[in-house]
Amino acid sequence: MRRDPDCLFCRIVKGEIPSAKVYEDDAVLAFRDINPAAPTHVLVVPKDHVATLAECGDGDRALLADVMLAAGKVAGLEKLDAFRLIVNNGSGAGQTVFHLHAHVLGGKPMGERLL
Ligand code: AMP
Ligand code: ZN
Repeated sequence: MRRDPDCLFCRIVKGEIPSAKVYEDDAVLAFRDINPAAPTHVLVVPKDHVATLAECGDGDRALLADVMLAAGKVAGLEKLDAFRLIVNNGSGAGQTVFHLHAHVLGGKPMGERLL
């Protein structure tokens, strides 16, 4: 398991920094975003540290599948009939925490579309 002692999300996964946990299994921790952009805004974070989606390689297949599956479980736990999943990759796309994570957003109409 990769860990970066200076990484905020590694520290949350380790329990050094508190979080509002929504779901946890061997591979991921999901917790509420501290600055929610929607009524439900949960971050799904793999316990294994990788900075960005672009840095993921073939060895990260299981990690990526675990994040996607956990996002679906979170949506079920949060009783979201519709939700959006976002991964920001790189500061130009708005990534501020360089530990891969997916945003699960829901609980309001999300009409605006980028594509
Ligand atoms: P991103 O901009 O895609 O890197 O997403 C990082 C997210 O982490 C932002 O939506 C922040 O609001 C959120 N965040 C930062 N610090 C914390 C924290 N201590 N607990 C929960 N969420 C956080
Ligand atoms: Zn990390």
